Amino acid sequence: MTRAVVLGGGMAGMLAASVLAQYADEVVVIEADRFPDGPQPRRGVPQAQQNHMLMGGGADALDRLLPGTTAALYARGAHHRKIGQLLTLSAQGWFRRLHSDAYVINCSRPLVDHVVRGQALREGTIEVIESAKVTGLTGDAGRVTGVRAEPDRTITADLVVDATGSRSKAPQWLAELGLPPVEEEFVDAGLTYAGRFYEIPEGTRDDFPGILIQTEPGTGRPGRGAALMLQEDRRWIVCLMGTRGGTPPNDEDGFLEFARGLRHPIVADLLSAARPLTPIRSSRALANRRRYFDRLPVPEGFLAIGDAALVLSPNYATGMSMAAFGAEALRDGLENGGLRPGLSRTVQAAVAKAGEWSWQMATGNDRWFPGAETNIRSRRLLGLDLGGLLGPLQRGFSTRWARTAADNLQVAEATYAVTALSAPPEQMMTPGLMWAVMRGPRNVPLTAEQAIAQYPEFGDLLTAGAIQARDGRQ
Ligand SMILES: Cc1cc2nc3c(=O)[nH]c(=O)nc-3n(C[C@H](O)[C@H](O)[C@H](O)COP(=O)(O)OP(=O)(O)OC[C@H]3O[C@@H](n4cnc5c(N)ncnc54)[C@H](O)[C@@H]3O)c2cc1C
Repeated sequence: MTRAVVLGGGMAGMLAASVLAQYADEVVVIEADRFPDGPQPRRGVPQAQQNHMLMGGGADALDRLLPGTTAALYARGAHHRKIGQLLTLSAQGWFRRLHSDAYVINCSRPLVDHVVRGQALREGTIEVIESAKVTGLTGDAGRVTGVRAEPDRTITADLVVDATGSRSKAPQWLAELGLPPVEEEFVDAGLTYAGRFYEIPEGTRDDFPGILIQTEPGTGRPGRGAALMLQEDRRWIVCLMGTRGGTPPNDEDGFLEFARGLRHPIVADLLSAARPLTPIRSSRALANRRRYFDRLPVPEGFLAIGDAALVLSPNYATGMSMAAFGAEALRDGLENGGLRPGLSRTVQAAVAKAGEWSWQMATGNDRWFPGAETNIRSRRLLGLDLGGLLGPLQRGFSTRWARTAADNLQVAEATYAVTALSAPPEQMMTPGLMWAVMRGPRNVPLTAEQAIAQYPEFGDLLTAGAIQARDGRQ
């Protein structure tokens, strides 16, 4: 008789439990919160009130883990959007509209959680204990044997999976068993979100494209950006974001003023015709944070996945996908001999590998915002500071890449596929793409008017006159 216990019933927890249900006789999820009956926000996942985009690569992983998940999302009104169809003002200019395969799913986070939870629990093979807060582990430094939770209970387990999210106490619980400290790295650009739901104005089409105004690293000024997306219930969610020194306010006037002061005021223009439905909510402390459980002498019977192991800045919209990739790493490990000695070490290493590129990408960008803080030491070789030498070169190359992607459809397509986590980063490293990037952009950059005119879906939401006025002001 084998038992697996999953700590936390969020995205990572539910996915891990659904994988374990195929290999353990009993699977128990312990969740501090109570689950709502429908797609409603809940206390345990406060970030769910902010914009969440599900990357196509993560969505495909959800379907591999729980077949039918994306179909269920679309049936509930989620929107499938090709990334090349989002109106995007990148750090390097407006993108040309492009028909590429890379996609995202736009819908509320509570809907994603509701559907994933429903899919995971549909067979009735997973026991869920709600309103129970995990407070520690049992066992010793070599083997975790179970968990302690409040109200007063201890559950023994052959495998304990920590999926309690970014505020995981697992490093402390493991230290109590005699393990060394878990190494932790962070890069904190001081990112803050301010988000709000709006009733969409009359005339908004179902194929309304999302809008992204991306934050610009490396300019010496705080990054400021916005996202405006259509949700499943014909609401807009608007997210304003800013890094240290550029925090979006959460009062009425400040919120709109911030949107109007962005590199283009299209979001403010659209909001002027929309009715707010909720208060403005801020989310702070949105740093990248990595806990290297894989560098421990990993005890038997313990694993950490999802945000408990790797928190990525929400600016890159990859956290839910990482939860899915972590569950796939667990599935792969279990396929290779089930619950067995050495499983934890193998899977913890695979979880770390699955997040490696996204970590490098997010932290490589975020450290270029002013006032960014990090505890990652630059590597040294023969007394030389490699980070100090190579960092500006890497930044220069990324900037050139982004500038070319705004202009060159092949470079944009490869970038989108990798951004959507649908293709490995090596796919961007072909000689043809490298040559295109070295040559740089060949066309005159799009004006705002030209970029917006690529989207008849806006209909009358924006008047030509307003766009021209903006264009002149740029
Ligand atoms: C503002 C913001 C915006 C984001 N936008 C995106 C986006 O656009 N796209 C994207 O892919 N990702 C996004 N993310 C990241 C995404 O929210 C996380 O990566 C994802 O929720 C991680 O899932 P998880 O299951 O690991 O953790 P969580 O979803 O946080 O779930 C943790 C669960 O553990 C429970 N729990 C916690 N402690 C205990 C305990 N002691 N005992 C029992 N249960 C416990 C909690 O109640 C919760 O149910 C965003 C994050 C933030 C903060």
